[in-house]
Amino acid sequence: MRKISYKAEQFTESVIREMTRLAAQHEAINLAQGFPNFSAPDFIKEAACRAIREDINQYEVTWGSVALREAIARNYRRFYDFQVDPELEVTVCCGATECMIASLLAVLDPGEHVIVFEPFYENYGPDAIIAGATPHFVTLDPENNFAFSREELRELCESLVCKGGVRALILNSPNNPSGKVFSTEELQWLAELAEEFDFYLITDEIYEHIIYEGLHVPIATIGDARARTITISGLSKTFSVTGWRLGYIVAPPEVTSAIRKMHDFLTVGAPAPLQAAAAVALDAPLEYYRGLSEEYRTRRDVMLNILCKVGFRAWEPKGAYYIMADISPLTQKTDVEFVKDMIRQVGVATVPGSSFFHRPERGGNLIRFAFCKTVALLEKASQRLEKL
Ligand code: PLP
Repeated sequence: MRKISYKAEQFTESVIREMTRLAAQHEAINLAQGFPNFSAPDFIKEAACRAIREDINQYEVTWGSVALREAIARNYRRFYDFQVDPELEVTVCCGATECMIASLLAVLDPGEHVIVFEPFYENYGPDAIIAGATPHFVTLDPENNFAFSREELRELCESLVCKGGVRALILNSPNNPSGKVFSTEELQWLAELAEEFDFYLITDEIYEHIIYEGLHVPIATIGDARARTITISGLSKTFSVTGWRLGYIVAPPEVTSAIRKMHDFLTVGAPAPLQAAAAVALDAPLEYYRGLSEEYRTRRDVMLNILCKVGFRAWEPKGAYYIMADISPLTQKTDVEFVKDMIRQVGVATVPGSSFFHRPERGGNLIRFAFCKTVALLEKASQRLEKL
């Protein structure tokens, strides 16, 4: 008898969480997993306490409370002049993580093809496999500022035509782990490609408010792209509440109906009192959002200086809160050996770059630092890194 499913055999456990466990075991500073070590803002915590005291403790509307869906729609209007119908186009899930799998299950059939950029957020490959789809990868080239080859992507789309075509492309901007922010021109080109080859754009914009240059542009706001775009975001990063598990999806009404069904049977609903708090938090003044990026810019610059001082070659992120660093100026070791030794001998945990690539050799000289930490902790890490 086979003990586990074929799907479960297809992927390993999360490397990031493995590094977090190793960090705890060796009392290393955890710059591996992307969770802040500082407090969430008081206004969101107070709103959650209030909601629980007011007995908002039972199941909410499956696809999200009215107040939260309206707040989400208000924010898309406020930030991007994007009109979203909270009744028909918004679904609240348990984190952007559930948003992604619910979306893939809603639009992909087994055997269909999905394109993912590498380096990727590590859930996308397993998500595609859980949905029964086949992921294909296009590289964001570190040596070329994480640009992708348009010829390669177009050729991939063409090569899949005879196999039923591409069904979806997963996009993540600002990008984890590279810090790339796709330019409006790149987004336009991708939107046109999606039109030409008739596929969905599934866009993870969880870092939309952590951006260091220019303004975030949701691909759904470009031309007619909204008709084929599923936009995912959430509260985890913007309000430093990764443990609250709140994310949301904006998609055309018929796609939203399908997503809501998947979401209902996956998790029924996101935590009700936290949804009430999220509805309050999203209405935070613009200064809050601007301050968020500014504070992260300070942390980014501190981290970049540290990496430069130690001798890494590092790429300046344009958004999100990670830095990719090249270890080759410092070592002959593989990324995995280097990261494990650094945890045990130096006391700083990071993530091996190969875990962000389908073709692991493309990330074999890279490691990822998460800098969503207080400057004091980053400086403590800096002292330890001097041992390298
Ligand atoms: N998407 C990306 C690109 C991420 O980096 C992360 C967390 O690191 C997530 C999604 C997870 O978001 P959530 O906490 O809302 O599930």
